[in-house]
Parts: sequence; structure tokens; C-alpha cells
Amino acid sequence: MLPKSDNIAAIATAPGRGGIGVVRISGQNLADTALSIFGALPPARNALYTSFKDAGGGVIDQGLVLFFPAPHSYTGEDVLELQGHGGPAVLQLILQRCLDLGARLALPGEFTQRAYLNDKLDLAQAESVADLIDATTSQAARSAMRSLLGDFSRVIHQLVAQLIDLRMLVEAMLDFPEDELDLPDVSRRDAKLDCIRIDLQKTLELAQQGSLLREGAHVVLIGQPNVGKSSLLNCLSGEEVALVSDMPGTTRDVIRQSIQLNGVPLHIIDTAGLREAEDTVELMGIARTRSTIQKADAILLLLDANHGLSKEDKAILAELPSGTPRLYIFNKIDLLNEPPRVEMHGVEEYIYLSAKTGVGIDLLRHKLLALIGWHQEAGVFMARERHVRALLQAQKNLDCALLEGKRAELYAEELRLAQDALSNITGEFSSDDLLGEIFSRFCIGK
Ligand code: GDP
Repeated sequence: MLPKSDNIAAIATAPGRGGIGVVRISGQNLADTALSIFGALPPARNALYTSFKDAGGGVIDQGLVLFFPAPHSYTGEDVLELQGHGGPAVLQLILQRCLDLGARLALPGEFTQRAYLNDKLDLAQAESVADLIDATTSQAARSAMRSLLGDFSRVIHQLVAQLIDLRMLVEAMLDFPEDELDLPDVSRRDAKLDCIRIDLQKTLELAQQGSLLREGAHVVLIGQPNVGKSSLLNCLSGEEVALVSDMPGTTRDVIRQSIQLNGVPLHIIDTAGLREAEDTVELMGIARTRSTIQKADAILLLLDANHGLSKEDKAILAELPSGTPRLYIFNKIDLLNEPPRVEMHGVEEYIYLSAKTGVGIDLLRHKLLALIGWHQEAGVFMARERHVRALLQAQKNLDCALLEGKRAELYAEELRLAQDALSNITGEFSSDDLLGEIFSRFCIGK
């Protein structure tokens, strides 16, 4: 039985003008709604060209209607899709007609939330619907699609199944006193745990890559005016994202900027803005930037190959956590007629390149991706910070179980906790707060 719910409606296509626009309704029984708008019940899952009528029988629009009777629909309920002309006014009229017939306006993500509640997809898949819509690179879109198809969920289900199998063995062992444990059972148990820990580690690595693809990395860019910061960003991303000029201070207002490197978003925090603020609002922004800088994933120090490190560069460098990975980039080597190269100076890596001619940029791309931990593995599935945290929690529980080898009850408890953490990813045990948080970030109509 589906939970009782009212009819919801929304315009499912993006705002603005387009060839067609779609209004979607979902509810327990849409037969009356369909009869009122089309004068007849449309055939199931077949496109019907028809008139969409208002209360007085006047034609609002003509187009296609698709009727998906429950449970074979996106939400698992009856769904009607009205494909009309893609203009804001006409779509509003169609939507209003649905609302007049008793539907209410859908909340963001409510169609997908119903799909989740009706077991059409699990939570990780539901999240990947939003990630697919929000994807800005083909790499991110493909990974989100893999998650939506259930690749990530399958791996999690497999881990949970392995855990259940191990728990059954451990629970059976609980019936015996500790000093009477059967040795073959103990070694079977330990072998199973080893196997799960290895599989979990592999999943964690893939999820961390997926999370990087989704969330990106925060990179601090330090460099004096005119060393070529904007030129470097343009060159790295392969498009004009930053203004280049030889007037120092062009980037004064730009504190953050996002570029993409091989599909991975890099959020660049330009420290040029840090030194020049006076008014309160700007100072508050700068305080926030400073705290972001403290949490940055990597630091790029850009220098003019003709000059050394300035006093200001040193001051900013001194503020940064010493553990943050960093690269020293010496720009404008074209003026010195030097070849592009990477040099090791102690633990520091120096890269020599020219943002103007592009020589050495591939070296930097390669180093930078490695610096933020991107390995470009095949089969990365889109994952969120929440998933990575759950996997880390499960890993911690399994590490604890390993230490509790002699205390079967504690061992069993750690396994149970690990299973809970993993089940949280696919949504078997999820609080309403978490669901509210996840679905409220969707767009309306999905
Ligand atoms: P920013 O102030 O650090 O953002 O520096 P810009 O990117 O605006 O560059 C300042 C000036 O240096 C511009 O005239 C650029 O064309 C020039 N420039 C940047 N990179 C190079 C380079 O590798 N070689 C040469 N010759 N000039 C460069």
C-alpha cells in the first residue's frame, strides 16, 4: 500500500521560452483530473495528442499527454505529463488548471521524494538524480548516471550482505564461552572481516573520487599583481574565465572563481583581494576567505620567473597550514627562453611554465590533479560528502571490531554499527531531517 498523499503538480521544464514545456502531476488517483482536462482517460503509457481544456471547456493549449498509472511511474503513483507549448504564460495556465482541480504545488524534489518513499529508488540514487541535473561537466554527468543506475548502491548492498553474513557467524559464536571458541570459526570470521575491510577501502577510494568530482577542491592562489594569475586560470581551464590585463589590480574584486580541470571543479580563492579591503562588508568577506584558506585542499604560489618571492607572498604563506600540499609555479619562462620543467627543491616542487604560450601547462595540470588527490579511475560513481563520512564511520567500526577479536559481544556490536552506517547511504535508516535536507535542495518539478 502506498502512503496516503495528495496530488502534487509543477512545471517540470526550466523557466523561460522553449519548444515544449512539461507540467507534471502525481497522485493516488488522477482519473478524475484527466477526465476534467482531456475529456477522457488517456491510454496508459501511450502519447496522446489532445486539447488541454479549462473549466468552461475552452482550449488552453494542445499537446501530448502521457499517463503512467500506478505503480509503473517515476513516483510509483499515477502520473500525468502534459507536454504543451514552452511559454511561461501558457504553462502557468496549465499548472493553474491542475491546481484548480485539487492538486497543490509540489515542493522541490517532491516527485523524487515520493519515488524514494515508494521504493522506486534508494536514497543514494535519489541524490544522484539531483547530481545529474546539477552536473556541469560530462565527467560529472556520467558518474551521476552510474550512481542513478544503482552502481554505487549495488556496491553498498554487497558490503551490507557480506556484513550480515559475518554477523550471523559471530552471533552464532556468541552462544559459546570465549575460551571455548572453535578455532576454525575464528579463522573463518577473521578472513571474512579482512575481505570486507579490503572491499570497503576500495569503495571508499571510489567514493572519495566521486565526491571530489561533485564538490571539487578548494585551491588557494597566491601571487603578486601582474605575475599572471588570471592568465594561468584561463590557460588551465581552457576558457576565458578571468580578466587578463597588465594593469596591476585587475583581479582586486575577484576573491573566488571556479574553473574545471579534466571535469573536476576547482574553486580558486585568489588572495589578491585580501590586502586591499577597507569597508566593513568587504572585511567580513575577507574574514570568511581567510577561514576558507585555512581549510584549503592545496596552495598554488605563482611567481614571475624573473623575480623571486616577495615579502607579501611570504606573509601569506606563513599564515597557511604547513601541512597543506603546495606547488611553486614560476611563470613567464618564455621571456627567459627556458624550457618547461618540474624541479624538486627539498620537499617542494617547482614548475616552470608560461601561461601566455601555454608551455608547461600540461605539467601543471597533471601535478595539480595529483595534488588534490584525483586519480581519474574508471568507474567513479558520484558520491557526496555524506556518503564518504558514512563509509569512514563503517571503516572505523570494522577497525574496532578487529581489536575486539576476543570479546565477541563487542565485536558483534561494532559490526552492527558498521552495517547501520552503510545502510544510511542507501536510506534504509534515515531520519526525516536528513530527507528534508536532501530533497529541499532539488529543483521544483523533479
Ligand atoms: P594577474 O594580475 O596576476 O592576474 O596577471 P595577468 O594574468 O593579468 O597578467 C599580467 C600581464 O602579464 C598580462 O599582460 C599578461 O599578458 C602577462 N603575462 C601573463 N603570463 C605571461 C607569460 O607567461 N609570459 C609573458 N610574456 N607574459 C605573461
